[in-house]
Amino acid sequence: MRLSAVSLGSLATAAATGAADHEERGAVDLFEYQAKELFAKHGVPVLPGEVATTAEQAAEIAGRLGTDVVVKAQVKTGGRGKAGGVKLATSAEEAGEKAAAILGMDIKGHTVHKVLVTEASDIADEYYFSFLLDRANRSYLAMCSADGGMEIEQLAVERPDALAKVPVDAVKGVDAAKAREIAEAGRIPAEVIDQAVDIIVKLWDVFTGEEATLVEVNPLVRTPDNKVVALDGKVTLDENADFRHKDVHDAYRDISATDPLEVRAKEKGLNYVKLDGEVGIIGNGAGLVMSTLDVVAYAGEEHGGVKPANFLDIGGGASAQVMADGLEIILSDPSVKSVFVNVFGGITSCDAVANGIVQALGMLGDKETKPLVVRLDGNNVDEGRRILADANHPLVTVVDTMDGAAERAAELAGKAS
Ligand code: GDP
Ligand code: MN
Repeated sequence: MRLSAVSLGSLATAAATGAADHEERGAVDLFEYQAKELFAKHGVPVLPGEVATTAEQAAEIAGRLGTDVVVKAQVKTGGRGKAGGVKLATSAEEAGEKAAAILGMDIKGHTVHKVLVTEASDIADEYYFSFLLDRANRSYLAMCSADGGMEIEQLAVERPDALAKVPVDAVKGVDAAKAREIAEAGRIPAEVIDQAVDIIVKLWDVFTGEEATLVEVNPLVRTPDNKVVALDGKVTLDENADFRHKDVHDAYRDISATDPLEVRAKEKGLNYVKLDGEVGIIGNGAGLVMSTLDVVAYAGEEHGGVKPANFLDIGGGASAQVMADGLEIILSDPSVKSVFVNVFGGITSCDAVANGIVQALGMLGDKETKPLVVRLDGNNVDEGRRILADANHPLVTVVDTMDGAAERAAELAGKAS
């Protein structure tokens, strides 16, 4: 174990593998809200909450819960609390503000696209608990400590005796007696040990029932009125067991692999794929869009390594509505710093496309806040360029060549970031 090298939130992942933030092959990491859904399914106490992708939704959920809430970044990395990704709010309005601050935030290279808005709890104690597959010893391991919370990595290094490590026999499993042995080793206080024992048995159900390689709760809290609740959850599923858990595993893989922007694009019938760069791309025709990605990536090398932020093919029509829908999706990607609209006028001629762009900008109004580089070519190109020149939109630059436009878009993204 190389606990001193831990730079991630999951102590157990590090303990099991000695590696930092990784998604192991054959493993499906879940978001906290998904882990808590599995906890609830197996009877582990969690507080009610819902996921939001916008500040408005977050405020609405907080209003519905009607309590103080915690707004929590949903990213597959730990240390969210320390990074400012976990914030208390005492009103729906404040929940919206906190969500606005957290959405789009970068936590260890993970962009926050979703927040969990969940009932807040008062905390008397924070405990640590995990089950993991201990590959080195070819067995299961339970880890438990009455001193959990955000400083658990430090505790593991400075006071290793305060973190109990109890091997679990795969055949015998964890019954109430075994759970009590683990809780006592972790020095869980007597007044809540019965609840802890019950929760540990249920977490073992999650671990074995869902075929996980990791189940971690940090913190497992004691409230001032002596209720024990899981406030955080991390679960890694064993992909090798997918065939036995098609429903759960497929659902979580799909949700976790699908970007929320892709979901929204799909609802609008757009052919959009999220990538991890800074230059938004809109084009007509899959071939043109593919080559646009290439020229932008190439041009980006000269501007701090900026890359395409997405693939978006708006097809042959390129109506104002489709253009507006596409721009709206791209502009709501917090990574996007500039947008490259690359259209070749064919059946739909360039003047129609130009009118579509101008109308789309009108529909977007104040939402259009990022520089747009437009390259038009093909049928009726002069009229198209004249229409854009007449519209004289402050954020729009028209460039005649594809390479020149890619260069300009990359430059704008490089500068703005
Ligand atoms: P992590 O930093 O990514 O592990 O995120 P956690 O979900 O563990 O939250 C970090 C810290 O925020 C916890 O250790 C708690 O101290 C605090 N926290 C989380 N939820 C609540 C809550 O409901 N009430 C209070 N008072 N603190 C909370
Ligand atoms: Mn935590």
